[in-house]
Amino acid sequence: MPKVRSGLLDCMHGPENTFTLSSPIGNLELICCAKGVHALNLSSYHDGNSFKPITETEVKIIDKRYDDNGYTYKPALDSVQWLNTYFHKLPNLPCVRQPVICHLMQLTKCSRSSHVSFTTRVWHTLLKKVPVGQTLSYGRLALLSGSTAKASRAVGQAMRTNPVMIIIPCHRVILANGMMGNYASGKKNDVKAWLLRHESVQYAFDKH
Ligand SMILES: [Zn+2]
Repeated sequence: MPKVRSGLLDCMHGPENTFTLSSPIGNLELICCAKGVHALNLSSYHDGNSFKPITETEVKIIDKRYDDNGYTYKPALDSVQWLNTYFHKLPNLPCVRQPVICHLMQLTKCSRSSHVSFTTRVWHTLLKKVPVGQTLSYGRLALLSGSTAKASRAVGQAMRTNPVMIIIPCHRVILANGMMGNYASGKKNDVKAWLLRHESVQYAFDKH
């Protein structure tokens, strides 16, 4: 049975595989089914360790959990291509196929938005409406996702539970006062700062 995570739609596309990718910000764990990406997280980052990005690191699959007889899921290959472009040829990113996010693919097929959780709508809005180099506040994202600015706390919760880092760009959500705000509940703020600098985003110096 595919895993069901809180707040996510179930996946009907068969078993997941887990891939380890090298990247400039450390090794990434990529979980895909045959149709789309389920999760992308930093796996090499541990609390308390200093963050030491190596900018020239190519994004490659360096390990996978299950040997699938030479067959690698297309969403994994799409993710590697997209991430390599993101890290090394950023201006070309709009020309590269965006990896399919499994749970959001199901969303686009769902005709009645009332069936979709606010969290899922927030992720979809970020994916589709907030390109590289742009930032927005939690309240603005709430508005764009069809709610009121009062839902900014719920947006914060959606950011903390974002399963697909970078591709669903929760690092582009900053505070209304222009400060950077937290990443992964404040545990990975140096990663957020790096990603925003990489995208040439200007934000106010965040003392916290
Ligand atoms: Zn799936």
